[in-house]
Amino acid sequence: MVQFRNVSKRYGGLTVLHGLDLDISEGEMVSIIGPSGSGKTTVLRVLMTLETIDDGVIYIDGKPLTHMTRDNRLVPANQQHLRHMRKDIGMCFQHFNLFPHMTALENCMEGPVYSLGMNKKEARERALELLDMVGVADKRDQHPSRLSGGQQQRVAIARALAMRPKVMLFDEVTSALDPEVIGEVTNVIRRLVSDHKLTMLMVTHQMGFARDISDRICFFYDGKIEEQGTASDVFENPQRERTRQFLSAVN
Ligand code: ATP
Repeated sequence: MVQFRNVSKRYGGLTVLHGLDLDISEGEMVSIIGPSGSGKTTVLRVLMTLETIDDGVIYIDGKPLTHMTRDNRLVPANQQHLRHMRKDIGMCFQHFNLFPHMTALENCMEGPVYSLGMNKKEARERALELLDMVGVADKRDQHPSRLSGGQQQRVAIARALAMRPKVMLFDEVTSALDPEVIGEVTNVIRRLVSDHKLTMLMVTHQMGFARDISDRICFFYDGKIEEQGTASDVFENPQRERTRQFLSAVN
């Protein structure tokens, strides 16, 4: 479903991704863990085309996000193609980025109506279904400022799902939340894994959560995958010294 082939990303003189190869299969839940600055968020940002890459190719469903020109320059796919591909990806960030002037329901209808051209009745039904699924249907007419952090994050997840993405990306979705509401959000993600088998890529510092729900854990170090495997491979039997050091520092 998603393939990174030899992907590099630089910010000025700083190389943040070093020839990254990463494959995510349909229905797979993959978590990225690793030290601060190892390039975890950058992986999500280049996949979402919020950043361009400097080398390599990213494929979604076999289609490249970038292509080489005849003089060997790497350029983004044309705008129309990018707009089309972006619809296949949903992203939730640490900060919820809801539209502040819209209610929870309107936040979830906006994309389907204005980007996908869905009629309002259908978009409203779908939005209500999703708000119900994430447990905030009773807050549908509230604006984000009237919702708790956990409720806002659940609306943000419903909003992303309303676009029917093929892949969902989660970037530290619990790190801005108070400890007592983290469970509300992790339970929604757990349900997406168990009941909906969505393809998901998650960056997290919550090792216990990653361990519980992931089909595969990728440990990042210096812009590359240092080690990957099932949760029990990586957490209980890490093969690399850097993985062992990281896990003993965070546990
Ligand atoms: P954290 O766990 O702290 O969120 P991370 O592993 O997600 O870290 P990234 O956010 O991907 O790391 O950043 C990787 C490196 O790229 C860092 O050194 C960061 O300072 C740098 N970086 C990220 N975005 C930019 C930018 N827009 N301009 C310049 N440097 C950047």
